[in-house]
Amino acid sequence: MSAFRSKYQDELIANAAYFRTPGKGILAADETIDEMTDRFSAINVENVESNRRALRELLFTTPGALQYLSGIILFEETLYQKTAAGKPFVEVLKEGGVLPGIGIDKGLVELPGTNGETTTEGLDDLGQRCRKYYEAGVRFAKWQVVLKIGTNEPSQLAINENASVLARYAAICQENRLVPVVEPDILLEGSHDIEKCAAASERVLAAIYKALNDHHVLLEATLLKPSMVTPGLKAKKVAPEVIAEYTVRALQRTVPAAVPAILFLSGGQTEEESTRNLNAINKVKGKKPWLLSFSYGRALQKSTLLAWAGKEENIRKAQAAFLARCKANSEATLGTYKY
Ligand code: 13P
Repeated sequence: MSAFRSKYQDELIANAAYFRTPGKGILAADETIDEMTDRFSAINVENVESNRRALRELLFTTPGALQYLSGIILFEETLYQKTAAGKPFVEVLKEGGVLPGIGIDKGLVELPGTNGETTTEGLDDLGQRCRKYYEAGVRFAKWQVVLKIGTNEPSQLAINENASVLARYAAICQENRLVPVVEPDILLEGSHDIEKCAAASERVLAAIYKALNDHHVLLEATLLKPSMVTPGLKAKKVAPEVIAEYTVRALQRTVPAAVPAILFLSGGQTEEESTRNLNAINKVKGKKPWLLSFSYGRALQKSTLLAWAGKEENIRKAQAAFLARCKANSEATLGTYKY
């Protein structure tokens, strides 16, 4: 078994290594049009192209924010949009030292015969889409699979299927010049304790790295975007230090040192929880060969959206909120966040 030797290997490794830059993380701004309906209805804003563009301009042009970001994950529509003054968003990112990425999967479908478990679609024309996005300036892609914790979940079928689809996706990305972000999203929903989440996380991650190796994926040119190990939403909360200890241990047991960076999703944690937990993770002593950072969607945007509420006159206030979250999470990647 050996890793796939892509002619783009050096470029892929260099781009993936950029995500090891201390103090930087990823903004996930790849909400689909359907997901934007949720985000916008919470602030009474109509989900139309002009409003989606305005929100993304607000985020990407926040003075001082891009210094805290190594990458931004875009939705396809956003990739081709411009600022009101006519500058392509991709140029804004490049000038700010931020790599453009793209959410590239085509969403979830149920696995028949399971208790509502899913796999993720989008492999069919993936190579072609990778080439098109690379031409437009994209350098990394994200593919999300979703697993849930229940009495008998995640099932072995869901684990095997999702590990395999992630591995196939990652191999196709690397063949076509994009760094794959491998995202196993283990949902927070449930009343399970942290031990159960740790066991599920370890089974899922072990299966994913077996599959990535079976598919000859070059691990040095991949990134991992996992959930933190936490108790279920309906269970009693635990301290950030406990989450940190379980999370780092699960990663130590399953994620090879060849992987340059692990960038957590926020998964419905509050802004403050996700920052405190990341800070605690970076304070854990012991073996941590990867950069441990953030790839947050909701936890970087929630207070920004509330402050903005779709109004031009609120842009400065909203940008101040976004900058505050970027800076706080940057500090959390260094374990220096104070609260
Ligand atoms: P959240 O941080 O809101 O979970 O989003 C991250 C993401 O990209 C989910 O695919």
